[in-house]
Amino acid sequence: MTKLTLVAGGAGFIGSHLCAALLDAGDDVLCLDNLQTGRAVNLHKLANHPRFAFIEADIVDPLPQGLRGRDIARIYNLACAASPPQYQADPEHTMLTNVVGTNHLLRLAESTSARILLTSTSEVYGDPEVHPQREDYRGSVNCTGPRACYDEGKRAAEALAFDYQRMRRADVRVARIFNTYGPQMHPDDGRVVSNLVCQALSGRDITIYGDGSQTRSFCYVSDLVAGLIALMEHGPAVTAPVNLGNPDEITVNELLGHVVRLTGTSARVTHVDLPQDDPRRRKPDISRAQQLLGWSPNISLEHGLAATCAWFAAEIDAPQEERLTIAAE
Ligand code: NAD
Repeated sequence: MTKLTLVAGGAGFIGSHLCAALLDAGDDVLCLDNLQTGRAVNLHKLANHPRFAFIEADIVDPLPQGLRGRDIARIYNLACAASPPQYQADPEHTMLTNVVGTNHLLRLAESTSARILLTSTSEVYGDPEVHPQREDYRGSVNCTGPRACYDEGKRAAEALAFDYQRMRRADVRVARIFNTYGPQMHPDDGRVVSNLVCQALSGRDITIYGDGSQTRSFCYVSDLVAGLIALMEHGPAVTAPVNLGNPDEITVNELLGHVVRLTGTSARVTHVDLPQDDPRRRKPDISRAQQLLGWSPNISLEHGLAATCAWFAAEIDAPQEERLTIAAE
């Protein structure tokens, strides 16, 4: 019998790759999304798959009634806008998505006995004073700043998830995802990889925040998806969060160098102020994922960026239909 897996946020960048990987693994996949930042085009290749179905819904609202009667084995919660301009556009909705929406999915997990995985974020470490970031570092987050709806929302969602775990109400997994990139990122989402690549390809001025010496560690999306599935399918209970990301740390200027070389752009580089509370350094300590799951990323930045640039180049040349053309449940 195939396993029924619900992917909330499955029309988004990571979620659409996850849906494809789960279908490849033989699951029945139910994708639930409000299409706030997710794109219908991300699902077009999956739309006609016999084991794929889509529900348009917002997890802040009570979940569609029919879900409780389904034999759901796994729930992935990826539902939340992830780029700062997008999650800051409606901060109340971002906070409610993380808290109320996560609670709705946890209750669904409780009532269906499904295992549930919450995608948290390296943002729970804020602008870290500890480097690299291990899971036991408690973070340096500004709880009243413009990023708080996301950072604090995710921290609250983690707290809620582990309360369900402690109360034996659900088998919970929490992944703290670090910067992830790859095909199907939204071209306008304002994240550093999509910004640099799209600006380079279009010949527009390339914008660098600050002097570009801030660091990030970029994980290719297929590596990340493999880590999410490994964490979900790990047999014994996992009672602590797990960092998933690529520990190869580079400066934004170094990233720019790769993008310039790969795209051959001669666009001008301009510098603007760093956004408020922007972290200076970011690098995961992934020893827990390595020991527990035997997981490490293996796609090099060189290889991953080349694939990403090629995808964006095709996307810019042939803008696709945004409207959802698959039948919703
Ligand atoms: P994304 O914005 O592409 O995808 C999020 C998806 O969730 C979208 O399809 C959106 O429409 C949907 N969504 C948002 N709010 C919803 C709601 N209330 N109800 C139903 N659907 C809703 O972002 P992504 O990069 O794919 O990120 C996926 C998850 O991973 C997010 O939870 C994010 O916080 C987490 N994460 C991502 C990164 C990264 O580098 N991409 C890093 C850390 C954490």
